[in-house]
Amino acid sequence: MNININSTDLSQNTLDGDHPTVTKPRCGMVLLKYERSHSFRCSNCNRDKVSKKIAISQKNPTQLICNACYGYIISRNEIK
Ligand SMILES: [Zn+2]
Repeated sequence: MNININSTDLSQNTLDGDHPTVTKPRCGMVLLKYERSHSFRCSNCNRDKVSKKIAISQKNPTQLICNACYGYIISRNEIK
């Protein structure tokens, strides 16, 4: 698996030629939505995941975060 991390243009984070849709940043993270599922290790829960959705920390774009952790972090940070 090739991961090209480019923090200035996250839409260039292609995995195996699959270009993601990039969502608006929330809580310092962006969620990348790929056309196909990709395997990766979540840097938050340290589990191997296979998903079309992969979140990335804007401060640390090499850290991949699974959709479950992304939702959890947002629910913890966006309580009003
Ligand atoms: Zn996780």
